[in-house]
Amino acid sequence: MVIIMKKIRTRYAPSPTGKMHVGNLRSALYEFLIAKHEGGVFMLRIEDTDQERYVEGAVDIIYRTLKTAGLTHDEGPDKDGGYGPYVQSERNKSGIYLKYAKELIDKGEAYYCFCDKERLESLRETITDPETGESKEIMIYDKHCLHLSKEEVEAKLAAGMPYVIRQNNPKEGVTTFHDELYGDISVSNAELDDMVLIKSDGFPTYNFANVVDDHTMGITHVVRGNEYLSSSPKYNRLYEAFGWEVPVYIHLPLITDENHKKLSKRSGHASFEDLLAQGFLPEAVVNYIALLGWSPEENREIFSLQELIEQFDYRRISKSPAVFDINKLKWMNGEYLKAMDEERFYELALPYLEKVLTKKLDFHKIAAMVKTRIEVFPDIAELVDFFNELPDYDTEMYVHKKMKTTKESSLAVLTELMPILEKQEDYSNDALYALLTEFAQKREYKNGYVLWPVRTAVSGRQMTPAGATEIMELLGKEESLSRIRRGIEALQA
Ligand code: GLU
Repeated sequence: MVIIMKKIRTRYAPSPTGKMHVGNLRSALYEFLIAKHEGGVFMLRIEDTDQERYVEGAVDIIYRTLKTAGLTHDEGPDKDGGYGPYVQSERNKSGIYLKYAKELIDKGEAYYCFCDKERLESLRETITDPETGESKEIMIYDKHCLHLSKEEVEAKLAAGMPYVIRQNNPKEGVTTFHDELYGDISVSNAELDDMVLIKSDGFPTYNFANVVDDHTMGITHVVRGNEYLSSSPKYNRLYEAFGWEVPVYIHLPLITDENHKKLSKRSGHASFEDLLAQGFLPEAVVNYIALLGWSPEENREIFSLQELIEQFDYRRISKSPAVFDINKLKWMNGEYLKAMDEERFYELALPYLEKVLTKKLDFHKIAAMVKTRIEVFPDIAELVDFFNELPDYDTEMYVHKKMKTTKESSLAVLTELMPILEKQEDYSNDALYALLTEFAQKREYKNGYVLWPVRTAVSGRQMTPAGATEIMELLGKEESLSRIRRGIEALQA
């Protein structure tokens, strides 16, 4: 027997309604990885049938985000693969959705509805969720128009009455569908409302268009947020009515913030582009997002996109909510910075260095100093701003248990060093290091006993991105001496 495997085709199907948030990017990434893992096709489809929610510029954000994240689509509005058009408003022009809706009407699976706003309003009910106690408004359509005769319908259509087309769901029985993560889910048909398929403006709803498009565009795997889980039985009934094969469904777990609240714009959680503006690297964000719900077989966290493609197995996606932890992302970003080659790091760090440093200093050297000490680029500012001018600092900082330094010992060391440093001409790191360690040796001090007070005096900081002599090299002789003099004065006070 020859088993012909269908080529995997996945789609990222965003509605152009604004920024691309972490959850959107995760759907896109998983769709991309599923396709690429199997050598399949990753497609981009723009779902713009809700004209009221359309936001100017949102399509550009989608393209930019996919490009920067490295999720190259094989087909889409800008790359025809024979399944176009790839924008729903353009697909609608050919009448494709209306044609399929009419096919459902002929099969008794859908019907025209002419009810006006007032009548629909009167059907609104407030229900209370027995589990959570929360109440919400729902509208279950009462199938009023299902009972219109063919002649009545035709007369209304001929008179140009506005209409929608609704799905005709049975009131009895059960619909079962399968999700790769959630397993078989059964719902009682009584819970399925007769959702609108074609709106009065002639556009399909998302609910209808996603089914028609996924089928006609050959989609094999559908990955989306689990907010669509409750509508999936209705989609399933559409597939059945048409006699179409249902794609593999993968409904992704919720992403929450650290307080286990749904991640939202309001909780200040960023879109992909906001994260980049905060100084995160695209590859670190992509790596982190891959782990929001998916875990690899081996206990490892750092993956390049290529490695993710190799390792990604959607059967290892978890159902439990994933927590978006910005500190974890920062840690991961730091790992990427550490591993980055020096020159690229310098180029990316330069704008941040130029922003804080007002003096002409060797930015190459400073970049190399901070590389392993930051998690995100904006961390650079507080690490290096002491180069501009000596900050006010507490002389308690001279006291260091391990180095066995006290304020008195520091004062003595700095005072003794002053004439030696004044005489010294070569202020290179190497020469200064040799000078200070030789000085320590002669007096039988530990190096730290000398270097700690010097570093404190020239930086005014507990933590610095480099040692005393590296800092002095950058500051130069005059500035180094002036800072040490100020240290002596402060210790004498
Ligand atoms: N257009 C839908 C959205 O942006 C896509 C959902 C799906 O992937 O089917 O939420």
